[in-house]
Amino acid sequence: MNTLVINCGSSSVKYALFDANELVLHKGKRERLSSDEGKSHQDALNELFNELDSFDIHAIGHRVVHGGDAFRAPTPIDDTVISAIEQWSAAAPMHNPYALMAIRDTQKRFPSLPNVAVFDTAFHARMPRRASTYAIDHDVATRHNIRRFGFHGISHEYAAGVAANFLKRPLDTLRLVTLHLGNGASACAVEYGRSAETSMGNTPLEGLVMGTRSGDVDAGVLMGLLQSGEYDVTSLNKLLNHNSGLKGLSGISNDLRDIEQAAADGNDRAQMAINVFAHRARKYVGAYAAAMGGIDAIVFTGGIGENSASMRERILQRLEFLGVQLDLDRNRSSKIANDEEYAVISEPHSRVDVIVVKTNEERMIARETLRISAGEKIAEVPRIPIAVSARHCHLTKETFEALFGAGAEPTMDKPLLQPRQFACKERVNLIGPRNRIDNVRVLGPLRSVDQVEVARTDEFRLGVDAPVRDSGKVAGSAPITLEGPQGSVKLKEGLICARRHIHMQPEDARQFGVKDKDEVSVSVLGGERSLIFGDVLVRVKDSYLLEMHIDTDEANAAELGRGASGGLSIDDIDDDGGVKQLGEAAYHQREKST
Ligand code: ADP
Repeated sequence: MNTLVINCGSSSVKYALFDANELVLHKGKRERLSSDEGKSHQDALNELFNELDSFDIHAIGHRVVHGGDAFRAPTPIDDTVISAIEQWSAAAPMHNPYALMAIRDTQKRFPSLPNVAVFDTAFHARMPRRASTYAIDHDVATRHNIRRFGFHGISHEYAAGVAANFLKRPLDTLRLVTLHLGNGASACAVEYGRSAETSMGNTPLEGLVMGTRSGDVDAGVLMGLLQSGEYDVTSLNKLLNHNSGLKGLSGISNDLRDIEQAAADGNDRAQMAINVFAHRARKYVGAYAAAMGGIDAIVFTGGIGENSASMRERILQRLEFLGVQLDLDRNRSSKIANDEEYAVISEPHSRVDVIVVKTNEERMIARETLRISAGEKIAEVPRIPIAVSARHCHLTKETFEALFGAGAEPTMDKPLLQPRQFACKERVNLIGPRNRIDNVRVLGPLRSVDQVEVARTDEFRLGVDAPVRDSGKVAGSAPITLEGPQGSVKLKEGLICARRHIHMQPEDARQFGVKDKDEVSVSVLGGERSLIFGDVLVRVKDSYLLEMHIDTDEANAAELGRGASGGLSIDDIDDDGGVKQLGEAAYHQREKST
């Protein structure tokens, strides 16, 4: 199984052919491509396919810079995916069109081979809302899709994975700051395996100082330049994207090697460029450590991150307070051997490990492409079935016998999804001060406390006011009279309106990134009455099966009729109240009781 990876940059095409063991069979790159003069991207593609003529190719992976918020994982390419990539071309005009060119070309040449898109944005697509949101007018932001997307995701994810391997700890137990420092540069807070923050934003212009890009600049400066009349949008773009960063600061080059040389020779602007670069990166490490509430390792990657020991040393200065202890000798002598993926440059007792990782986006793309084209399911967030619970009661043995006769036992009508739970054949009548509701289902098995669960509408009919409660918390709840064929029982308390909740297993909780007793919000989308349910309680137990329970009023409010289906997505409320989209799942209704 040989996988071809094509990585189209704004002026380059890099490609590599991997075998099933991720060994490189062939690779190459074409640079300085241009659409007006000299060699074009299409010429480069033609050359590359000539070169690869004698090799077998079984799958093709394409790096796609911008997938917006539409893609959270590598995706097999079909017409829908192509039009989505096209749609995001406006936001990445220097990259997406070339990726599309390569995709169309390979589809034409190899119509039967699977093509997979691996997105730079996907790793960041589940960033918490607090991190992805810009504090500008919310309507404007929504209308123009102004949010932080983040880039370099393939590299950040790869570097984080290599670091976790070295640390011999699962990625989802680690808080890492990954620094991809190349011509483009970005930092990422990788919190328990997910991107929690990243320095590139809506475009790859924000954040760190880069080869020719400015990174963070006060937006007021840009308005000032426009107002001055000296700049228009085109020249401003040129200034910020092509003539700033290391190049603009130093006035020498965008290549750090040249700048380091000039600085050593005493050039003041070169020294300033280095200082500004290091300071900015250090600032982000500190900020991300704060955002994650701690840090286990710092990971350097990219041309500068891998090769410039003095830049790494500068960036790490003053980070001792975080527990970072750089081993100066190891840092200076660190060379990642050809067949190695990383080198460690911190002191053995450093609380925070510092690791240099050789970036390998192509390898990561090959890995994902192989995984997807081999039919492995993308690590999807679990699907969440919804069960609509109609009014029902859980009874004690004592109450059950009082209603159905001494020695009576519940008889199973049908099993429920949760283990050992079942709907009984037995029914009771609820007698309230205002009205009665007959034929209310009893659920088994018998419990140690009586609990009657009704919807708000039922309460109005009965003429009672029941509190919204978690199951089992009936102390101080509303009274109700139960009537059975053999007698009736007046409960002093036990009537509740059940709080909506999701049952899940620890593994589901891990995938959703939630814990037992968390409150999340769940949105039911796509139907006639899309709705977000807030305050949904998460209940985690080994024996649970994944299922959300809502009552009939809640189901009606979202127009979830019997057998209806729609999209369901779970949002987890951040600790500061932001809502984080975790994923999507199909909705299918399951009758819990009649
Ligand atoms: P790109 O983002 O274009 O892939 P790279 O990751 O190759 O870029 O990084 C390019 C940067 O790495 C350049 O600024 C280059 O100066 C720097 N770099 C490469 N090798 C060294 C080195 N030995 N010392 C200092 N900087 C280096």
